[in-house]
Amino acid sequence: MSADLTLALIDAAATAIAENAEELTRLDQAIGDGDHGSNMQRGLQAILRQREALAALGPGEALQKAGMTLVTTVGGASGPLYGSLLMAVGKAAQAGKGWPEACAEGVEAVKRRGKSDVGAKTMLDVLVPVVEALAAGKPLAELRLTATASREATKEMLATRGRASFLGERSRGHYDPGATSTQLLIHAVCDVLEARA
Ligand SMILES: [Mg+2]
Repeated sequence: MSADLTLALIDAAATAIAENAEELTRLDQAIGDGDHGSNMQRGLQAILRQREALAALGPGEALQKAGMTLVTTVGGASGPLYGSLLMAVGKAAQAGKGWPEACAEGVEAVKRRGKSDVGAKTMLDVLVPVVEALAAGKPLAELRLTATASREATKEMLATRGRASFLGERSRGHYDPGATSTQLLIHAVCDVLEARA
């Protein structure tokens, strides 16, 4: 991965979160504690401040470092979960694994960290189907559609993990904030990769 591509991915991710931070906050106010927008923005701003240093690293190392940054700067559940994701993907990439396999290892790390899986109305409800589509060799346009449809599907789900689960049936009818930030970030990555394809 070129330094150029690393910079473009960081910038696209940071922009996507900055532009949607209020919406993420609004969604988290409905079924959580209202900090998802500010937490994600704090994490992406911290990564943005390291963009040159990250771009000088190989992709595996850059992902691990970015993951550590999220773990140490972001409160709530999202820092450790997104941090675990990036660190596991980076570790697998550094070990020479291809992106589909590395991303699958990232998904497993999120499942372990969150003690969760698909169907609990979390980021995994977007992450898992997208990474499965990636493993199946689907094109970027399809990964994008999978992310959108999977995020849509969280609206009517019953939350069984995280703070939203305290609401029980009242968690239905709201999009999951973590699934939404995951969808935004996947779209940001697809935008960058499509522009370079
Ligand atoms: Mg929250």
